[in-house]
Amino acid sequence: MNLQTFSLFREQAFVVGKWCSAADGKTQEIINPATLQVIGSVPFLGEQETKNAIKAAKVAQQAWQRTSAKSRAEILMKWYDLIVQNADELAQILTAEQGKPLAEARGEIVYAASFVSWFAEEAKRVYGDVIPSPIADSKIIVSKQPVGVVAAITPWNFPAAMITRKVAPALAAGCACIVKPAPETPFTALALMDLALQAGLPSALMSVITGDAIAIGEALLQSEDVHKLSFTGSTPVGKLLYEQSARTLKKVSLELGGNAPFIVFDDADIEQAVAGAMAAKFRNAGQTCVCVNRFLVQKGVYDNFVQALREKIMTLKVGDGATTGTTIGPLINHAAVQKVQSHIADALAHKARLIVGGQPHGAGELFFEPTLIADAKPNMMVAKDETFGPVAAVFCFDSEEEAIAMANDTQFGLAAYCYTKDLGRAWRMSDALEYGMVGINQGMISTEVAPFGGIKQSGLGREGSKYGIDEYLQIKYTLFGGL
Ligand code: ADP
Repeated sequence: MNLQTFSLFREQAFVVGKWCSAADGKTQEIINPATLQVIGSVPFLGEQETKNAIKAAKVAQQAWQRTSAKSRAEILMKWYDLIVQNADELAQILTAEQGKPLAEARGEIVYAASFVSWFAEEAKRVYGDVIPSPIADSKIIVSKQPVGVVAAITPWNFPAAMITRKVAPALAAGCACIVKPAPETPFTALALMDLALQAGLPSALMSVITGDAIAIGEALLQSEDVHKLSFTGSTPVGKLLYEQSARTLKKVSLELGGNAPFIVFDDADIEQAVAGAMAAKFRNAGQTCVCVNRFLVQKGVYDNFVQALREKIMTLKVGDGATTGTTIGPLINHAAVQKVQSHIADALAHKARLIVGGQPHGAGELFFEPTLIADAKPNMMVAKDETFGPVAAVFCFDSEEEAIAMANDTQFGLAAYCYTKDLGRAWRMSDALEYGMVGINQGMISTEVAPFGGIKQSGLGREGSKYGIDEYLQIKYTLFGGL
């Protein structure tokens, strides 16, 4: 595919209402992880452009918050329509820079669009309260107002959805947005920006700044005019940005790493569990924060489950995501491949059993064989650290108590999955799992209508659902006295 012919393929950033290059002409090349070929370049911007964007966003936000929720919703709905109409082109851009199979990329575009239509609706439902006042002749009114200018810093694994999940509620609430996309995947972000302008979004209200992550991040977080940070990415960077946000006491949402357990009890429907396992483990080549990291399987079905999972893994087709039929694309970079290799080597050194895979794949430098490891133990790296790759590690347990203890034995608390046909056990597990999200007999839990987010060191705040817009609002209480 030749991206250069796509109208949405933009090799400029969008700052202060204009498509722009760097003043010094500096650019950054973007690589297709499947072919390692350069697909284009984007401007390498930094502190000054970010400061300019904040200044413009502040002015634009004040006008935007005075518009009616209905008119904001109309622009968001137009943006939604345009995203859906352009899903094929967007998916191809996404696959070229990120690597996931085209069908998954298309699925992500539809998922990304769903946040835009959802929050277009939610814009109209930002309700307040009237509280009976303890003072006669007075009224207590509670209203909600936009936080102001929002900084959105996003990762490469969902180059479209992680942007709309932040920007749509922010715009719906009446905020302005400055987006710093991941350096690996700027083109999807820029294409979405293009469509937002076509939808009629005031141009200074949103910027997409490519370039020096640290300089852009510093400028955003130092600014007294940015009142909110919404970040999705790794836990160490999230903690750093949380610290930086403390200086100006920003409102913060963080969606960080996980270490998801997938628990299969003896009484589970094994076929259903294996289908859920495939979706929850191998989507995006294992590179999602809700991907399973640890399969905890009860003794009675352990061998059956390992065998059934092995068979399904053998059906996966590794290759360039742009090729029809591919189900596993490349990993994002060499560091990701090295991490996968080190987790496998460590597990095997600690006497895990390699069932299938375990090697780099011949399709190219960043491809890795879908891998299954049995007899994993809590002292292995795969138990403690998010692999973020196509490696399924299976642990054995005896009792429900043991499963709960193993599942919760991590500093992370994003997603957990549990397969059982016992209704009482399903409820007990939902209660006992220390996670922000639990899938019972279900491996795909993400939807725009439900609150996505973690507890413990997996993050703060929730995205999507009726709760998601609150992250971009602040509560105001007004006492009307002497009435
Ligand atoms: P990953 O390891 O998955 O790439 P990161 O947490 O490093 O995840 O990156 C997520 C996002 O955070 C990206 O947009 C990246 O550029 C950005 N980022 C990384 N370090 C910093 C930083 N020091 N300041 C601001 N943004 C950063």
